[in-house]
Amino acid sequence: MTYEDVKRISDARFSNWKSFSQKLIDNGLSSALKAHPGSPKRDVPDEIKLNEDSEVKITMVGTGGAGWVIGRYNELRGSGGFAIEYGDERNKIQIYVDPGKNYSRDAPNYIDVNSIDGIICTHIHPDHAAELVSALQDASLNAKRRGGKFLALNKTALTGAGDAKGTPTDKFHTKLLMGETYLMTGRDQDEVENEVENTPYSWFDGIKNEIEYEKNGLEIKLKATKSCHQETGASNPEDVFGFILETDNGTRVGYTSDTRVWEKEIGQKIDTERRTITFEKGEAPEKLIHRDDIISQYKDLNVLIANPAAFTPAVYDGKIIDHDNNHMRVDGVVDFAKKSGAEVVTFREIAAENYRIGPEARKVLGEFGHKDFIDFGIAYLEEFLPNTKIAVLNDGGRIVA
Ligand SMILES: [Zn+2]
Repeated sequence: MTYEDVKRISDARFSNWKSFSQKLIDNGLSSALKAHPGSPKRDVPDEIKLNEDSEVKITMVGTGGAGWVIGRYNELRGSGGFAIEYGDERNKIQIYVDPGKNYSRDAPNYIDVNSIDGIICTHIHPDHAAELVSALQDASLNAKRRGGKFLALNKTALTGAGDAKGTPTDKFHTKLLMGETYLMTGRDQDEVENEVENTPYSWFDGIKNEIEYEKNGLEIKLKATKSCHQETGASNPEDVFGFILETDNGTRVGYTSDTRVWEKEIGQKIDTERRTITFEKGEAPEKLIHRDDIISQYKDLNVLIANPAAFTPAVYDGKIIDHDNNHMRVDGVVDFAKKSGAEVVTFREIAAENYRIGPEARKVLGEFGHKDFIDFGIAYLEEFLPNTKIAVLNDGGRIVA
């Protein structure tokens, strides 16, 4: 793919945004948006049920992401992560994913935190891992009686990548609290098999691309997917993983975790003085993964959990586009949802840009720019995904699939 190809794609996306926002403006914003519930100001369903005999329950404990939300916008949405339960009240497997800031505050309101069988932590950013130790403590209660606890933590959290080193937990607590401890990666198993030997982290029970977990006749399979999301200075962004969880009754839930979905041919320029990121012509670092290789991993899903850090566009080549350097944006979600065939799409990481709109987006979106961007994002997704249920849930919201 050449630079010109990439430019053509970005121009096409730009015109999607532009024509869509114009359509909203032409039709009167408020009436166009009334049909789209889901922002914090509107009524949001507490539970979306896909089938009557559903056995998989996804509880979105904290749906906010990134620094602004866990700081200043702390009260709007937590960042506590989510739980996936399979089975019924008497016999179930419960997996907890990405216990970030406010896990301790919010999780006990929505789930039984002492019934956690396994914890997955996809990377060490604070909105995904800040309260990992609290979640480990909760999961460890009744551990002897219940047995079979596991932790799956991203590999770079421990082995480091670039200048990103440091684990949100330690050997003592991890080994004391959890039965099995794995480092997890979206890379192929044979490629990584021996990477932690002779490192300070060799006490982990292995590095895995896939985990199977069985309890009282119920079984789930977790397969890690590659993401492209840099921890600070990381040279191996693919070690931040997403996953597909499949139950033995055939339900498939995909979680993208944080990932950028930008074309590899475009470099990025970070201006630390002005704290801005723009894109420019030129090769991105070799290890970054092309968007198609990330998106194509998510197939035949019932539920897709995506992390569009913002519903607003970013800037490329003096124009407004849909992705930033490290996350998908709302138009990236459209691509994931289409490829995966998911019946329902929900969001783990609704970031502060949705509450604060930058000047670049305001330019394109005109008078709409001052409105709550979540409304715009939902309307946009519904326009381009007419056959998919768009579930922008509040904290505590559930999908039963
Ligand atoms: Zn992140």
